[in-house]
Amino acid sequence: MYILPRRLFGTNGIRGLVNKELTPQTAVQIGASIGTFFKRGDLVVGHDSRTSSPLLAYAVIAGVNSTGCNVQFAGMVPIPALQFWVGRHRAAGGIMISASHNPPQYNGIKVIWNDGIELSREQEIEIENAYFDKRMSLAEWDKLGRTCELEGTNNEYIAAIKKHVDVAALTKRHYHVVVDGANSVGSLTGPQLLRELGCRVTEVNTEIDGAFPGRLPEPKPENLGVLASTVKTRRADLGVAYDSDADRAIFVDETGEIIMGDKSFALAEKYFLMDNPGEKVVTSVSSSTMIKDVADAYDGEVILTKVGSVTISRTMKKVNAKLGGEEYGGIFYGPHQPVRDGAMATALILSIMARTGEKLSKLLKELPQYFLSKGTVECPEQLKQRVLQELIEQAEGSNVSTLDGLKIWFDDKSDILVRPSGTEPVFRLYAEARAAKKAAQLVKEYSVVVRKIIQKLR
Ligand code: MG
Repeated sequence: MYILPRRLFGTNGIRGLVNKELTPQTAVQIGASIGTFFKRGDLVVGHDSRTSSPLLAYAVIAGVNSTGCNVQFAGMVPIPALQFWVGRHRAAGGIMISASHNPPQYNGIKVIWNDGIELSREQEIEIENAYFDKRMSLAEWDKLGRTCELEGTNNEYIAAIKKHVDVAALTKRHYHVVVDGANSVGSLTGPQLLRELGCRVTEVNTEIDGAFPGRLPEPKPENLGVLASTVKTRRADLGVAYDSDADRAIFVDETGEIIMGDKSFALAEKYFLMDNPGEKVVTSVSSSTMIKDVADAYDGEVILTKVGSVTISRTMKKVNAKLGGEEYGGIFYGPHQPVRDGAMATALILSIMARTGEKLSKLLKELPQYFLSKGTVECPEQLKQRVLQELIEQAEGSNVSTLDGLKIWFDDKSDILVRPSGTEPVFRLYAEARAAKKAAQLVKEYSVVVRKIIQKLR
């Protein structure tokens, strides 16, 4: 990932290679820019298990304190636990040091607003302007900010999640759950929450280790082999894997099958709508049509947004929606907090199993089934917008959305999304259909269309 000249923030905060793009020196400057943006008040700072996280946290804290803002230092916490604390205790904001799903040589900085949700793009621009124009408002020596240690964030977060599920009903089931903590902060809350819900817990990759010796932190199928086989051989009821800041959760059913995020979200949606008919559900345009099918069947209304978890959170708040989700294993449960939350997602899926008494594989089979296919087409950066424009013109008259890239829904329940990548010189294509062959065929067909337009415009 690269950082553009006048831009610090990408889709999910600031990211970079440690001591290359993101050094302690830049972290101090970024901290001072964040403090300049907030002007006053207490900022809660936390970090994941990465080797570089403590030193970057101290650097950011030094910058924040230099502007006169105070810091409550929470140490190692999942980002949803930090967000919950900020929202609940009305802190001025929060800062999380983590590169989420990126490998260990990366790190990043996410900034949280006083409602517990990450900053809007407009707010990020204010921080970027302070940073690039070197307009940090440094305080006089006697007005410097102070830092105090903050304890209890993780316990308070676990207690809050338990209020949203039927703990007694869950405890009676004595589920056996395998937790893969990615050697990071999900290990501090996932196993404890599950034990407090009466589960028997088997732990995988739950030693805190910033080199991530167990697996890479992105909870995608190629990284979850150990979790899947452990669930199967130990005959557990469920497996769950988190990323390094523990906002995403990917599940494994009792047969050892790794479940795509779309499906676990659709399952949560189904039972949420059964209890709350007529409610709105927010998801990005890249999500599966499964989400719309479930909403149609259980009297819900789907609100589509651009791709990105912050947009989903902010839209949930705006339209007063209680549920949101995205295909990467993000479930946003508004009654708790409208942000991605790995531990809350775990509690929700388990409580659906408990109320139905069914195994996860059976619950998932009852959802509409779709097959996915993906592809990429190379495209020079400077042509991307013109190519997209031309694609949109060609697609006129069909059932389309131009919210983010171009999405077309066809009458036979298949669809395709064509989107310029934000980080690489490529277009990404995502198709889904009721048959695997049809999905692959759509990707092939539209790859040809995109290539032809690129050739024409060159
Ligand atoms: Mg994450």
